[in-house]
Amino acid sequence: MKRILVTGGAGFVGSHLCERLLNEGNNVICLDNYFTGDKRNILHLMDNHLFEVVRHDVINPYFVEVDQIYNMACPASPVHYQYNPIKTTKTSVMGAINMLGLAKRVKARILQASTSEVYGDPEVHPQREDYWGHVNPIGIRSCYDEGKRCAETLFMDYYNQNNVDIRIMRIFNTYGPRMHPKDGRVVSNFIIQALLNHDITIYGDGSQTRSFQYVDDLVEGTIRLMNTANFIGPVNIGNPNEFTILELAQKVIDLTGTKSKIIHMPMPSDDPTQRRPDINLAKEKLKGWEPNIQLEEGLRKTINYFDNLLKERGTEYGY
Ligand code: NAD
Ligand code: UDP
Repeated sequence: MKRILVTGGAGFVGSHLCERLLNEGNNVICLDNYFTGDKRNILHLMDNHLFEVVRHDVINPYFVEVDQIYNMACPASPVHYQYNPIKTTKTSVMGAINMLGLAKRVKARILQASTSEVYGDPEVHPQREDYWGHVNPIGIRSCYDEGKRCAETLFMDYYNQNNVDIRIMRIFNTYGPRMHPKDGRVVSNFIIQALLNHDITIYGDGSQTRSFQYVDDLVEGTIRLMNTANFIGPVNIGNPNEFTILELAQKVIDLTGTKSKIIHMPMPSDDPTQRRPDINLAKEKLKGWEPNIQLEEGLRKTINYFDNLLKERGTEYGY
């Protein structure tokens, strides 16, 4: 049994990670400031005596004796991370400094949830870990992209300078149950719009691409990376099957049988035109890890989740 700290543990990915770590018999401390997380994401874990929850903001130091730290705290959707961009940078940078300081002090292994956004609007396709990226340092996505890039720098410097036992994972677009219904990400937006028979909002002409990973595949890759010896990353964790946003909209329409129509809206600035992970490094280093759940199966599970959520508490979100 390990003592494990999960920052951002009440969020979408963090809650699935806490659940899996508890199922494996670990002692889990979930730390969150509830900016985009929700206690209901972890309510079903509360009666497990191995689970503890702490309301705390990672921009402030936090001290606890643990063996491993998963640093997941950071708003991940463009709508949420652009709401208070200075805070977003603080969360990534000061959060990394505080958690790395803790890892150094208690000699814990620490994993950083980095992102495909470190590649920006990539000029290399698919993206391999040795690509340095194409990021606008002063655009609307910069608080997130540059914050995460600086966090990677801090992780590498704590590793080189202080021998901290780090892992860096670059997550590509991930979806599934417990995404925030108002976070504006494309999968949750399209599913909710389809379930309500509202217009499906494609930004631009819909020819931009993303590669969508189901959350269970991410959690598996995350835990394998944390527990692999002699490999620190950075490593891409994502599903290499690439779709245009128009194709995604069509799939959601087919799977829900909605009456919704597609409408086109202006493209946000700096929106990457294509994104697909090269996952050869993950396959090689993480015992053959690769995604098992493909888009249609993952969308069905996610549609089912949002269908229930809208029936049970849709009004809370103004639906
Ligand atoms: P999310 O917004 O659902 O979860 C983030 C959690 O962190 C929330 O519970 C939020 O309340 C908490 N948080 C935010 N700022 C905090 C702070 N200052 N102190 C303490 N807690 C704070 O997002 P997610 O999709 O679950 O993302 C989890 C992590 O994975 C993030 O670091 C994100 O950047 C990274 N990531 C996610 C994706 C994706 O597609 N989901 C892609 C790339 C990277
Ligand atoms: N998008 C869209 N309609 C929406 C939400 C998003 O067309 O209602 C597009 C967005 O412009 C981007 C892609 O879908 O090209 C993925 O957006 P998301 O916010 O999910 O994540 P990103 O990968 O851009 O961080």
